[in-house]
Amino acid sequence: MSFNIRDYMHEDSAGQPKFDFKSSSFCPAFWMALYYKGNNQGLKPCCSIDGYATRTDQDNPIEPTVENYNRTEYVQSLKQTFLNNKFHKNCHTCVRDERHGQQSDRMAMFEWIKTWDDVDRLQNLIDNDKLELWHLDYRPSNLCNLKCRMCDPVNSSLIVKENMQNDLKLDMIMGDNMYNDAQPNDWDYVKDFESIKNLKSVKVLGGEPTVEKKVFAMLDLIQEKDLAKNINLQYTTNATNLNKKFYERLIGYNHVNTTFSLDGTGRTYEYIRTPAKWNNVHQNLMGYIDFRKEHDKTTRQYGCSINCVISVYNMFTLDEWYEELNEILFSLGGRRITMIYCTNEWQALDILPKFALHKMKDNFNKLSESVKQYDHTKVLESYINRAIKEDYNLDKQRLLSTFFWHNDKLDAVRKTKLVDIAPVFHEIKDYADNNLLQEDLQLLTSITEGNKNRKWKNWKKFLQNERVFEYE
Ligand code: SF4
Repeated sequence: MSFNIRDYMHEDSAGQPKFDFKSSSFCPAFWMALYYKGNNQGLKPCCSIDGYATRTDQDNPIEPTVENYNRTEYVQSLKQTFLNNKFHKNCHTCVRDERHGQQSDRMAMFEWIKTWDDVDRLQNLIDNDKLELWHLDYRPSNLCNLKCRMCDPVNSSLIVKENMQNDLKLDMIMGDNMYNDAQPNDWDYVKDFESIKNLKSVKVLGGEPTVEKKVFAMLDLIQEKDLAKNINLQYTTNATNLNKKFYERLIGYNHVNTTFSLDGTGRTYEYIRTPAKWNNVHQNLMGYIDFRKEHDKTTRQYGCSINCVISVYNMFTLDEWYEELNEILFSLGGRRITMIYCTNEWQALDILPKFALHKMKDNFNKLSESVKQYDHTKVLESYINRAIKEDYNLDKQRLLSTFFWHNDKLDAVRKTKLVDIAPVFHEIKDYADNNLLQEDLQLLTSITEGNKNRKWKNWKKFLQNERVFEYE
């Protein structure tokens, strides 16, 4: 029995089809979307799902064409789960987001199904087991001009380079990709016009898209084939390299959304996002305003937002940068800062002892009442409150030790000092010293010298306060 998507759709007051997410777990991604990550990763339907259908670093990798991708066991078995109206276990991120009342990637996919004709086209693809690309998430490499403290080797070539050149052995916490200095794969999906002619949406991330020539090539192909007018383009940039050559390639789209990655301003920004210079970034942001004035006659064609990673690095100086960042957001014509709770567990707010979190809250309280009213500020406050509320336990002390182990290495190589950003780190280090920091640093060093393939596993044991390690 085939899956009938119309069974789960109704018409809204504007006559548009709406999917009932509560009554069905179906996700259309396998029939209309593709995520591509170069530098030895592969193809999958979206960024949230676990695993890749094709990994280009396998001993005998299959050529990552759409047809081959569609035939893989991964794609066929996951599709079947959705056709049986069930979530697959690899989709737990979407399940979690929807459970928390947030927009999941699955929900975002339905934004490209705008008319009843689109519904019928999708049904046709389902019935014929075909993939027609409506949305492409394109990340051709990890090439980046920055090595931000909370970033990782899959997204920054400079992090890989720094690790290898200085023998930092950071693979213990960041995985084997710390030694993956692969070039972008010599496979370029977008050279194939047939595959991209139905695109409605393109998302570009890096690395840093403005320094990757494959991104330029893709944007050029879209212009050359006169496809831009059908496409909503989204890209995320660190704003260090916005220039005329890049801007020229943003013209003619149905809509362009720029997301700027900014986790502070001034010295906080520079400490986190090595080797960026805030003044240059600020100048580039002002350049974006000029670009918009020149090309956005309707004031609706270009939108922007800011992504801000909330971590132990930027929250003690909130009173220095937060209001400025909000002013910048509004002058850019944006309305929202997306507050991203740091996913590196050793840099997240909850590794801090209570006295430090209370200092952080004092800092937050110094913000003006007007800025505290914004929805994104409320999200920020909820992150601090949540960390304060949580129990502080031994696991968190071990994460704090890991934070110092990692950050001291970066400070030594980059000739920076954490306490210059926030003197409270003197007291936090004293606290850690009284809670086995020196012993922990020795243990972490001995783990990094242990059996290569077991480092990560042993770090996990360390986090559970294991003190003795035997390496095979
Ligand atoms: S349910 Fe979510 S994670 Fe799974 S394929 Fe769809 S968008 Fe991706």
